[in-house]
Amino acid sequence: MFIFDAHLHCIPPQYHHVFMPFSVITLIKNMDKYNVNMALLMTMPHFSGVNDYVAELVKKYPDRFLGCAMVNPRTDEEGVMELERCFKELNLKAVKMLTTLADFPINSEAMHPFMEVTRKYKKPFAFHVDPWDPRCNPFTAGELADSFPDVTIIMCHGARLESISVAKKHDNVILETAESPQSHEIEKCVKAIGPERIIYGSDGFGEFIEIALAKINVLKIPEEEKKLILGLNSARIFGVEVREE
Ligand SMILES: [Zn+2]
Repeated sequence: MFIFDAHLHCIPPQYHHVFMPFSVITLIKNMDKYNVNMALLMTMPHFSGVNDYVAELVKKYPDRFLGCAMVNPRTDEEGVMELERCFKELNLKAVKMLTTLADFPINSEAMHPFMEVTRKYKKPFAFHVDPWDPRCNPFTAGELADSFPDVTIIMCHGARLESISVAKKHDNVILETAESPQSHEIEKCVKAIGPERIIYGSDGFGEFIEIALAKINVLKIPEEEKKLILGLNSARIFGVEVREE
């Protein structure tokens, strides 16, 4: 079975003392341990040079990683240019914003220039979503989905009850399963919007991968639907060719 982790973090070695002291070798070992074929690799937005680091790793391990840009929304025009560079020069396949770290609301109009770039390059835009945070709850992501119906919006941590009404309303919204509260909530999302717009993500770098995978594997849904959630939907969204199934 093709397994794609749509939410895997890496941190450049010079920042390991601050955050997650895991090398890329450890990440790959853990992917191998749990038969994860590929991952969308992302760093954290507030370290400099992170996008080049991701691009380097993708170049080094093209069969294992796709790269995700990380941009701080508070960098305004500079950030918009950086995002354009990530798509045009670094060939990164998506962008993610962790707006809580920047204390920045997803539904701010200042987000629109970033959305315009993702629209231009036809890339998915992932957001950290938290139902209890007014800056990034599912409804704020829904407002963006409404303004940009042709841009795929991924709600990271979004496979939960609070996202269902937004996902039902907007076909361009994808729910990602990392740190979803409980399996039964993921199952309710599948029943409500179908399996095609739900993607597996771990937010992990170690043992968390095992738990994240188990949350999908225990779902009482057909095997074919699990295959979609664990990898085939991401393959479609991020443009990965899956050779054997
Ligand atoms: Zn994360």
